[in-house]
Amino acid sequence: MWTIKLINIIFPPSCFICKKEGKNLCDDCLPSFKKPVDSPYLYIHSLYSFKDKRVKDIIHAIKYHHRRDLILPLIRGYKFSIPPDSILIPIPMPTLRKYMRGYNQAELIAKEISKEKNVSTRSDILIRFKNKKRQVTTKTRGERIKNQKNSFDLKSSVADMNIILIDDVTTTGATLDEARKVLLKNGARSVNAITLAH
Ligand SMILES: [Zn+2]
Repeated sequence: MWTIKLINIIFPPSCFICKKEGKNLCDDCLPSFKKPVDSPYLYIHSLYSFKDKRVKDIIHAIKYHHRRDLILPLIRGYKFSIPPDSILIPIPMPTLRKYMRGYNQAELIAKEISKEKNVSTRSDILIRFKNKKRQVTTKTRGERIKNQKNSFDLKSSVADMNIILIDDVTTTGATLDEARKVLLKNGARSVNAITLAH
């Protein structure tokens, strides 16, 4: 912890968006982020709109520039509750990509929600067992859905669990839906999802 405090003394936090000193996301910017207007599936709850360029930039920084400090303000900036018996499961990243990046941002997000809402996270249940063609290279919604088929499996039982899948962004909801189907088929009692943006 002392390293973080030391860094704060040398570089006091400033707002990622407007650069104002004080917080990494300030009290003016955070409440002004656009909320998503719709959701690809009713069970997916997204906190912010990915169409808001500022949100897009923040998620990019979390993903590629190690700015995990931006996750907590995003979570705190949106009032939501989680049933206390929920288990959070981050969407795993294909192994090679996780290795290249060094971390899975969905796992970081799940850990922050976990601490904030006092529920447990399990990163050891859901596995992604094939390195399919990356989503960005496929064009249509149909292709993307097909591309995700059967790409998840389970390492241990999920019987009677109330699961909340966690990811950074959802677009078509295809990845989350595929994971959800596998969990329900294997006896999960309920499966919802939370993403930072849609
Ligand atoms: Zn600001």
